[in-house]
Amino acid sequence: MQDINNLLYYYETNLNEYIYTMFYSGLDKSSYKEIAIILKQLKYLKGLGIYSSEIETLSIDFYRVYKSIEKTIMPITLKDEIIRTGSLLHMVFTNNECDKIKMYSDASVMFSCQFHKEKTPSFGVTDSIGACFCFGCGTSLNIIDYVMEYENLSYQEAVQLLSRIYMININNNMVEENSKQVTKYRNVLLSNEFNELLIKLNDRIIRREKDSKETLSSKLAKEKISHNFETIQRVRQQEYKDFVPDKNKQKKLRFEIPTFN
Ligand SMILES: [Zn+2]
Repeated sequence: MQDINNLLYYYETNLNEYIYTMFYSGLDKSSYKEIAIILKQLKYLKGLGIYSSEIETLSIDFYRVYKSIEKTIMPITLKDEIIRTGSLLHMVFTNNECDKIKMYSDASVMFSCQFHKEKTPSFGVTDSIGACFCFGCGTSLNIIDYVMEYENLSYQEAVQLLSRIYMININNNMVEENSKQVTKYRNVLLSNEFNELLIKLNDRIIRREKDSKETLSSKLAKEKISHNFETIQRVRQQEYKDFVPDKNKQKKLRFEIPTFN
């Protein structure tokens, strides 16, 4: 249930961003009708406070529709690209100094917090949604925030470092290909240890799905793991990918702000 609440929160946040984009896009209202119906049903079921498999099915529907709308409407920013291509699990794993790593759920892995001292791991990383949260000190970060905090960098420096590590081609990247930080993270990305962790996570999800069915969080987690393997392969072959923002997706204001209540 907690997972579903987290996911709903995540989608509602994204949906608000989507509404905002709609406001400036001048697209027809029918393009968000389907998603509004699903969200309404999800909110209703959530409000009942009981777990039902219907929630899972609807969540997957929601995700599918949301993704298709996102693809056609939302302009992709460099920040989106970095969050999608990068792996917060990989970043945190690189700086992990504690033996204890615990699988927490299908989607999350628990580490010892790297921002406060603690004996039991309470730093949860959910790679599929690019977020981490510490139950001990309340730290809550995406991959860019994490690099800023951990490496003590500015936003621009963090974006440049991450683009370099994950081989995303951007203009005027000041970070050297073989800088200390790039080497540190890339070595772990290509290491057996990190690959084994991904395989272990994937196996665990598939084992659990034999008992119950596919859930949204397990679906997203599997997708992220497979995306991580693609990134590893690309970085190993030293292939850069270009980041091309699609400016055509942003049109000018024409409609009133839609609401989903
Ligand atoms: Zn903490």
